[in-house]
Amino acid sequence: MGISIAIDGPAGAGKSTIAKQAASEIGFIYVDTGAMYRAIGLYFLRKDCWEEEEIIKECHSNHISVTIKYKGQIQQVLLNGENVSELIRTEEVGKITSFVSKIGAVRELLLELQRGLAKEHNVIMDGRDIGTTVLPNAQVKIYLTASSKERAKRRYKELKEKGIACNLEKIEKDIIARDEQDINREISPLRQASDAILIDTSFMGKDEVVEKVISLYIEYTR
Ligand code: C5P
Repeated sequence: MGISIAIDGPAGAGKSTIAKQAASEIGFIYVDTGAMYRAIGLYFLRKDCWEEEEIIKECHSNHISVTIKYKGQIQQVLLNGENVSELIRTEEVGKITSFVSKIGAVRELLLELQRGLAKEHNVIMDGRDIGTTVLPNAQVKIYLTASSKERAKRRYKELKEKGIACNLEKIEKDIIARDEQDINREISPLRQASDAILIDTSFMGKDEVVEKVISLYIEYTR
């Protein structure tokens, strides 16, 4: 069993940016569980399937295989062998992902993969239910958040830099809707684990947050 650092939090809180940088500094593997859920979201988006019964049937049919591989320290997500790492980054995929990830059969598909990675490697794993469900014994647990305004602003900047047309108010609305769905679902809702440390990044710079995460890890090793 490796050492695990679990980072949970709402959409756009900066989890992946922080986790990636911290993982590279301490030599851990970064595991992006959102990307795994997004791959399944993409599968159903391509089928234009929003029917719960149909989704459960597909999950039990062995038609969906999500695997990951690493290119250096960067995680690539494969959906039935196809590298979908870039395709899953749209808001459209985010939306259907939040819908399908409420379903138990979808979560079961990914749980073993996630736990297996933590068994074999030292990981920083981010998601919504890592500290509460996937790795309840993680040595360090962090709940990363920021105000919805700030999170929307960051996403807006990111999209603008990529040359993608977007609207700040719509982004904030989408973020709030996705959070609500993730917080209010019955199975593995987004929640701060009782033993997780809360970091509100609304007024913090990226390096400051990474430093804080690493200092929590160092504290654990002492
Ligand atoms: O983190 P990211 O925005 O990529 O996650 C996309 C969606 O995947 C989330 O809104 C959530 O519905 C789902 N998810 C989840 N459990 C995780 C990670 C992501 O349900 N551990």
